[in-house]
Amino acid sequence: MSYSNGPSTVPLLGQTIGENLRRTVERFAEREALVVPFQNYRANYRQFWDEVGLAARGLMARGVQKGDRVGIWAPNRYEWVIVQYATARIGAILVNINPAYKTAELEYALKLSGISVLILAKAFRTTNYVEMLDEVRGKCPDLRDALVLEQDWQTLLKQSDQVSEAQLNEREAGLQFDDPINIQFTSGTTGLPKGATLSHHNILNNGYFVGLTCRYTEEDRVCIPVPFYHCFGMVLGNLACTAHGACMVIPAESFDAYETLNTVQTERCTSLYGVPTMFIGELEHPEFSKFDLSTLRTGIMAGSPCPVEVMKKVTTLMNMREVTIGYGMTETSPISTQNAADDPFDRRVSTVGRVHPHVEIKIIDPETGAIVPCGTPGEFCTRGYSVMIGYWNNEEATKKAIDRGHWMHTGDLATLDEEGYVKIVGRIKDMIIRGGENIFPREIEEFLYGHPCVSDVQVIGVPSEKYGEEVMAWIKVREGSSATGEELQAYCKGRIATYKIPRYWKFVDSFPMTVTGKIQKFRMRDVAIEELKLN
Ligand code: AMP
Repeated sequence: MSYSNGPSTVPLLGQTIGENLRRTVERFAEREALVVPFQNYRANYRQFWDEVGLAARGLMARGVQKGDRVGIWAPNRYEWVIVQYATARIGAILVNINPAYKTAELEYALKLSGISVLILAKAFRTTNYVEMLDEVRGKCPDLRDALVLEQDWQTLLKQSDQVSEAQLNEREAGLQFDDPINIQFTSGTTGLPKGATLSHHNILNNGYFVGLTCRYTEEDRVCIPVPFYHCFGMVLGNLACTAHGACMVIPAESFDAYETLNTVQTERCTSLYGVPTMFIGELEHPEFSKFDLSTLRTGIMAGSPCPVEVMKKVTTLMNMREVTIGYGMTETSPISTQNAADDPFDRRVSTVGRVHPHVEIKIIDPETGAIVPCGTPGEFCTRGYSVMIGYWNNEEATKKAIDRGHWMHTGDLATLDEEGYVKIVGRIKDMIIRGGENIFPREIEEFLYGHPCVSDVQVIGVPSEKYGEEVMAWIKVREGSSATGEELQAYCKGRIATYKIPRYWKFVDSFPMTVTGKIQKFRMRDVAIEELKLN
């Protein structure tokens, strides 16, 4: 038996992103849509719609056809959001490029998805994007046009003169809601990035149902410090807001704890997003207590395991009494499960909630494919409207990820309880097998979070001749305190099973991670093997 929450009383939206935005604009024209204080940008829904229309017509004037791939390589800024909706309105496929990419990754992304128009920032931090593009341009035959935001944005908007409103409307009328609209490269914690290809239907509905779960209305102001190039920013952030008439508030080009707290205060945000490390960074910021966060009500923590202790602090110290955890992956648009505001508190902080409307889930034995009993860890699989169209130009990888029954195999290990709440216990490949015992790193991490000196912790398995694998913990100590491996080992003794107590301890200032806060455990393992001379 697979599990679903039964038929939802709210039907899926059968619209394109452009149609949905048009309806929101009709209802909430004068309400703020997008606020980017560091760019001095403020637009209500009418102004936002107008600028999206100009950019859409400008892109049509530059020859962008339905199905063409338009890349965007920029940190969070208002033009990113305009481009997201402009490309959706003209049926182009937006390809999100990670701002952290360097030349080899850029070339890979341009070639893999056949980008014909690239919209890019001039530079970001110490990286000169224009110079990098010059290095690879000759090797990317599909790329015919590049548009630098700081130089060419106004020209693009002016080029809208060459295409009429009627031509834009005609283009829109020819779009279907299940057309591909977006390519997102999966986070790259394993192998080479693959381009998850998503439709209007996939991501619009996911944003819409996330917004319903967060109880968004036009009164909400959502602070989005997570990157747009990732689904957390562009779907849970932007689409959830525009589907409900809420306002998108962007605190900085890339995450900054101070700017985030400051923006929540000055813009009176009602909702705040982040991966766990972002919330930890805010809670531990030296000036945390000076900010007035009383306008906050809700928010989403997602992207990687969310420690119970951090969730509790966010609920109380940040006033986010309805904060939810979302779980999902790029390939599933992304959210599959999410807590609801009225879930019991203990469930809300310790599980990833229950299955979203119109989505099915099942937990299987990864070896046999059989559904496992309640409470037993197995691979989390999901099916429904949210599953991507496939990986761009990679049928083989698509077939591996989505089986014949249309189930997406996530590679995540999870348990499901009698009431339908899901817990993520690890990734299949991160599970530690020590002397035949299966150990789920998450359990040990949660336990160690309870130690007063531990600010953050990650647990991995490292090779052992005797046991196959041994447990190793990497610890970030809370500022102003100290701890040793012996002390932490003593803390574990008698409280968790002896075989789960880490044998090795490493004290660090940070963990190797992707920009979206995914810990790269494979890198931690490489470092550990090298340092402990285990090979
Ligand atoms: P991405 O495709 O970048 O969104 O990464 C998806 C992966 O992030 C999932 O397969 C999980 O391993 C992890 N992930 C996302 N949300 C959560 C969560 N709430 N708890 C634990 N892991 C998560």
